Parts: sequence; C-alpha cells; structure tokens
Amino acid sequence: VDTISKRKRSEVMRSIRKTDTRPEVAVRRLLHAMGYRFRLYAKEVPGRPDIVFRSRRKEIFVNGCFWHQHCGCVFAREPKSNRSYWIPKLEGNRRRDRRVRRMLTTAKWSHLTIWECQTGRAKNLERKLRGYLERL
Ligand SMILES: [Zn+2]
Repeated sequence: VDTISKRKRSEVMRSIRKTDTRPEVAVRRLLHAMGYRFRLYAKEVPGRPDIVFRSRRKEIFVNGCFWHQHCGCVFAREPKSNRSYWIPKLEGNRRRDRRVRRMLTTAKWSHLTIWECQTGRAKNLERKLRGYLERL
C-alpha cells in the first residue's frame, strides 16, 4: 500500500530530479580533479543541461537510471505498483530527453550522457569523460 500522497510524491520527485544528485556531484568532482572548468544548469543552452563547457560547445547530462529509464539497466525496472502514475511519468521523462537532444543537435552542441550506474568506477568514468571532452 502506498501511503505517500500524490502531492508529497511529486515534491519528492522534483527534489530528486533537479540539482545536485549524488551521481552528478561525483561527476563534477571528478571533472574538477581532472582540471576541467564548466558551468552548471546554463539557462541559455537548450534543455538547461547539468554540466556545460561553453567554449567547446559540449555538455554532459548525468542521468538517474530509473528516472530516465536507462535502456536494459537493472536500475531502470518499471515499478510494479502505481503503474498508472509511474508509466506516463517515466514516458514523459524519456520524451523530454529526446526533445532536448534534438534541440541540442540542431543548435550544434554535442552532448554526452553519463548514467548513474556508470559513476561508481572512477577510472572508467575518467577515461570516458576525457575521451569525450578532448575529441574535436
Ligand atoms: Zn543504468
């Protein structure tokens, strides 16, 4: 039985999605340690991405596997209860992600998505980030 009210739950969802999530902080900390400087949540860039490298016209999204339904990932299983609430919600997130990516491509920004489940292994993550940021 779900005891959280609908309103409370959307508050929780909002606070989870928006800023300073744990995987996001891990990526930011690593980028800093690697010597990169960047901006956060730049309003003028389509989709207000998490991490922005303006001079390189590159950006990085750090996505929660559940919220953004990481394809094939064990953390992205669809919930078993309250499906009438969750399924449209998650589908909406996916649609929004697709729309934002299209906007970015049109505006000639490149982007990299880092999934939450990829943030645990710093060495791999570092290689991935450097590979993306140094590519011309
Ligand atoms: Zn994942």
